[in-house]
Amino acid sequence: MKKKKKVASETDIAIERYKAFLATSSEAIWRFELDEPILISLSIRKQINLIYKHAYLAECNDALAHMYGMKSGEEMVGTRLGDLLPRSEKANIEYLTNFIKSDYRLVDAESKEYDRNGEVHYFVNNLVGIVENGKVLRAWGTQRDITKQRTLEEQLFHHSRLLENISDAVISIDLDKKITSWNAGAEMLYGWKQDDVIGKYISDIIPVKEFVTSSLKDYRESLKKIGKWMGEVIQNNKDGASLHILGTVSVVTDDKGKTIGVVALNRNITEKKKSEDERNWLLAEVQYQRKRLNDIMNDVPGIIWEAYGKPDQQSQRINFVSGYVKKMLGYSVSDWLNTPNFWLKIVHPEDREKAAAVANEKFEKKQSGVNRFRWITKKGKVIWVDAHSSVIVDGSGKAIGMRGVTMDITQSKMADDALQISEAKYRNLVQLAPDVIYSIDLEGKLISLSPSFEVLTGWKVKDWVGKHFLGLVHPEDTEYAKERFISGLKVPLKEPYHIRIMTQKGRVIVGEFRSTPYFENGKLIGLIGIGRNITERIELEKRKDDFISMASHELKTPVTSLKLYTQVLEKQFSKTNEKGTGHALEKMNNQIERLTNLIGDLLDLSRIQAGKLHIRPAVFSLTEVTQEVVESIQATTTHPLIFRSTENISVYADKERVAQVLINLLTNAVKYSPDQEKIVIIFKVQESSVIVSVRDYGQGISKEHISKIFDRFYQIQENGKSAGGLGIGLHISNEIIKRNGGEMWVQSKEGYGSTFFFSLPLPK
Ligand code: ADP
Repeated sequence: MKKKKKVASETDIAIERYKAFLATSSEAIWRFELDEPILISLSIRKQINLIYKHAYLAECNDALAHMYGMKSGEEMVGTRLGDLLPRSEKANIEYLTNFIKSDYRLVDAESKEYDRNGEVHYFVNNLVGIVENGKVLRAWGTQRDITKQRTLEEQLFHHSRLLENISDAVISIDLDKKITSWNAGAEMLYGWKQDDVIGKYISDIIPVKEFVTSSLKDYRESLKKIGKWMGEVIQNNKDGASLHILGTVSVVTDDKGKTIGVVALNRNITEKKKSEDERNWLLAEVQYQRKRLNDIMNDVPGIIWEAYGKPDQQSQRINFVSGYVKKMLGYSVSDWLNTPNFWLKIVHPEDREKAAAVANEKFEKKQSGVNRFRWITKKGKVIWVDAHSSVIVDGSGKAIGMRGVTMDITQSKMADDALQISEAKYRNLVQLAPDVIYSIDLEGKLISLSPSFEVLTGWKVKDWVGKHFLGLVHPEDTEYAKERFISGLKVPLKEPYHIRIMTQKGRVIVGEFRSTPYFENGKLIGLIGIGRNITERIELEKRKDDFISMASHELKTPVTSLKLYTQVLEKQFSKTNEKGTGHALEKMNNQIERLTNLIGDLLDLSRIQAGKLHIRPAVFSLTEVTQEVVESIQATTTHPLIFRSTENISVYADKERVAQVLINLLTNAVKYSPDQEKIVIIFKVQESSVIVSVRDYGQGISKEHISKIFDRFYQIQENGKSAGGLGIGLHISNEIIKRNGGEMWVQSKEGYGSTFFFSLPLPK
């Protein structure tokens, strides 16, 4: 009995101890009982089914209850396994499978369960099943809640994955500014490997080259004050390439709030910046272009406009009009935009109907073109305008509006009108002119002929327009006419030229022509010219020449006789020594000498005209002849004549004629040097000829006369008076020199004297 009691009390103690342990354990302890034992020989699937069917919580401590969000173990007793270990959770099936497989014994097996609030809990279980006679009866177990640890782990995992995956660089540094962490993003961004940088000073690896959005000072102050900084900086990567970085830097503290370092999250925005820069550039460009377009539109000295709707209808809406309206018409842009059909309202009443009709037609026909009409400005001034427009069409090709530019053409219209009037005048002039005004195209075809052509030639204008002009030219003049035509296309031919023309009746008339190249829009079209019939004039000249020739011949004989008689008389009177008579005779002799010279000149001229000036060349001393001439002229004048020839120069020419030329040049030099200035004669041998120059310091010859000085009868008139003479001396001299194989020319400046030159061939 005593022993039994003792045994019983030992059991009691054991139970008590167990209960106390159960109650105080922080580990959850439980016992699941099965309503019906389960055969362990059954398949795992069947066993699991039966476990879910029969297992219930038979005993547990409070710790377990707490894990499920309850107060005491007693509350939980009786709970079916399925309520705690949901079948739906794959992990739980796995857990039970493992339990069965491992002989109903599990160590540190994880289960995922839900508490009464539906919150997830992760538990680590140690359990053992009680098997008797091939059947499972119950299971004992303990479990630990690892939910917190698990979530932390999961978070950590998640975070680490995140850190690895983000392309942003996550870099942490300690208080010494040494790098303590460097993620894959940082490796990617900067090109430095983690191993290369951990423990290094950050300023040695990725120093900030430049603060873009704030300064180093801001950065420090911001970290100090709010523990955070965000901004843009420029840094280099390992290769030295510049990176534009958007950085977020935060201060890191430990659980006690003590600063332990900073962590930076750096993002590469180089590309973004670049595209941002590009966008900004584009934006600026667009703005610039828009401004430019605006400026252009406002600078155009005309109104640029755009309008929708039919041009003559109230529904017309002006959509745009450039600022020039104000300048041109005095109406403001808003006047235009706010009044439908404004353009038509200010059209001159006389033009309104037509202007509207023209605009409408263009609109209907979708035609671009010009509409010319008058506008009345705000101040009441009338201006002429040209509205150049084109039609705006919609997607289906329907005309919906018009746009264009309208220009003030008042000035040019007036000029045009004036031109039209002057053109009409000019046309009249052409019609009435006694001269033939004509135009010829580049090929030589006659484009136009004025009416006097018919009077002068007897031909009809219409028979010759379109034909080649050479058809009118005397065959002997064809080559010359062609040459003049070709030159005439190049330069204006101001010097008239003579061409013989055949009339309709086969008569020959002499035409005197002048022409000038003719351009249209800057392009050479041909030439225009003026022609005059000078046949009569030429005939008159010929008759005059004939008369001079005849008169001089007729005069020559009596004058020669006269001269002889005076010589006889002189001889007689020299014996009587009568002073008065001798003097008169001398004078008479001089006059007769002059007369002889004049007649001689006239005869020479006639010979030249008739082509009969004969030259008898021989070798003679030019030096001697010149000396003789100089001496004889010097005897008649006080002008110092200076001639020094160092060597004796001979020429091959007509001695008498050359002397005549020298006399002529020297008398001219004397005659046209009124102040007794010196006259210098110089020889210069050049190649096979000698050049003689006669230089005077007299009145000189002005430019306009120089080219004509060798023409016959050409005299320079001073105040309408000539200095005497016939104006043929130089003409004869020139002809003489030409016929002797030389040339004659002159250099002169008005007021500074002249130099006449002539060349003569040296003997071979
Ligand atoms: P003229 O009989 O009138 O002298 P010329 O044929 O000899 O005729 O000369 C023509 C014109 O040339 C003269 O009228 C004169 O005006 C001008 N002339 C000739 N020689 C000279 C000169 N040495 N200096 C200035 N003018 C001259």
